[in-house]
Amino acid sequence: MSRLTSDRVREHATRLGLTHLPETLEQVLARAEDAQMGYLDFIDLLLEEEVGHREGRRFRNALKLSGLPHHKSLDEFDFAFQPDLDARKVRDLATLEFIRAKSNVALLGPPGVGKTMIAVALAVAACQAGFSIYFTTLDDLVRKLRAAEATGRFNRQLMTYMRPALLVVDEVGYLPLDRAEANMVFQLVSRRYERGSMIITSNKTFAEWGSVLGDEVLATAILDRLLHHADVLAINGPSYRLKDRFNLVTGGESMP
Ligand code: ADP
Ligand code: MG
Repeated sequence: MSRLTSDRVREHATRLGLTHLPETLEQVLARAEDAQMGYLDFIDLLLEEEVGHREGRRFRNALKLSGLPHHKSLDEFDFAFQPDLDARKVRDLATLEFIRAKSNVALLGPPGVGKTMIAVALAVAACQAGFSIYFTTLDDLVRKLRAAEATGRFNRQLMTYMRPALLVVDEVGYLPLDRAEANMVFQLVSRRYERGSMIITSNKTFAEWGSVLGDEVLATAILDRLLHHADVLAINGPSYRLKDRFNLVTGGESMP
C-alpha cells in the first residue's frame, strides 16, 4: 500500500472514531498478506481487532468505575476450603442468568468465608459480559444517600444505584441503621425490585435484620422484595483469613 493511501486510511479511521486501527494497520496488513486472505476475511479481521480493543477498554474502564475493592475471579476461589458451600450453585450464578432475570443473590455467613470475594467475582464476570455493575458497602451507600438528601440531591444519588444492571451491596449488618436510613434502603430495594439485580452480603441471618435496620416492619418489607426472586447461599465454614494462622499453629505443633 502506498504511503499516501495508508495515511488516508489512518485519517479516515480516526475521523470515524476507530482509534485502534491506525496503530494496528501495518500489523493487520502483514497478517492478511501472510495468510493470503480474501477481502471478506480481511474486513472481518480488521473489525474484530477494533472491537476487541474497544471491549477490552470498556471492560477496564468499567472496572475502574465500579467501586470493586479488587478484581478476583472465581478461578481463584478454593472450593475445597469451603466444603459446605455448593460449588455448583456458585457456578450456576456465574452463568449470569440471575442478572437477565433481574433476580437477586444473598450471600450469608460469618466473616472471612468469602462472601465479598464471590460477590466481586460475579460482578467482574458480569462486567466482562457487558452488564453495567456497581459495588458499594451498605454503610457507604447510606452515608452517600444521607449526604445527598441534606443537599436536595437524594433522587439523583438514588439514580446512581438504580442504573447498573447489577448492584452489589456488601456488608449488610456490620453497622446498625436508624429508621431514616432503613427507609432509604427500602426505597432503593423497592425501586430495583424486578428492574435490576442485587447481590447483598451479610453476616447476619434474615431474622436479625429487624435489629440491624432498627425496624421490624421495614426489615420485613425490604426482605419481602429482596427475596421474592433470589438465590440464597449460606456459607457456614471456616474463615479464610484465619487459614494461615491455623496452619502456623498446627505447623508449630508438629515441629520437634
Ligand atoms: P467475607 O466477605 O466473607 O468476610 P472475603 O471474601 O473478604 O470474606 O474473604 C477474605 C479473604 O480471603 C479475601 O482476601 C478473599 O479473597 C479470601 N478468600 C476467602 N475465601 C476464599 C477461598 N475459598 N479461596 C480463596 N480465597 C478466599
Ligand atoms: Mg466481606
